[in-house]
Amino acid sequence: MCDLPELSDEEKSKLKAKRDRSNKISKLMGDYLLKGYKMLGTVCQKCQAILMQNKQQEIYCVGCEEVDKLINKDAQYFKQQNNISLADVKGSSIDIIKNQITWATDQLSIDTLTLDQRQQFVNFIKLCCETRVLLMASVN
Ligand SMILES: [Zn+2]
Repeated sequence: MCDLPELSDEEKSKLKAKRDRSNKISKLMGDYLLKGYKMLGTVCQKCQAILMQNKQQEIYCVGCEEVDKLINKDAQYFKQQNNISLADVKGSSIDIIKNQITWATDQLSIDTLTLDQRQQFVNFIKLCCETRVLLMASVN
């Protein structure tokens, strides 16, 4: 019997990220070869990608200059989006609900409402208040 050690989820996603990265690098290297870049026999000290050289003899690392920059940009963008959504979305939901409560309370003062309509407004206000309390609790 040969039992291979099970990879943890973290190891699996690391492996996948590594594979994605080298796929991106080889695709870009193909593009650069078509543009007239040469593939050098040396690898980048920083990221181990094969170095390329353009017609001006400038050495270029696809891994550092493009793939890693893109990955970092994605990560930063994702982080920003997350930061915004957490506080701001809840904050604006609370504001909207507050306005709804004010609106429904105003409606209750209309004399021509039937008892049934009044009850609906009261239920609506109750629901808004409950939701607001839940949202306020989850902001902190
Ligand atoms: Zn590099």
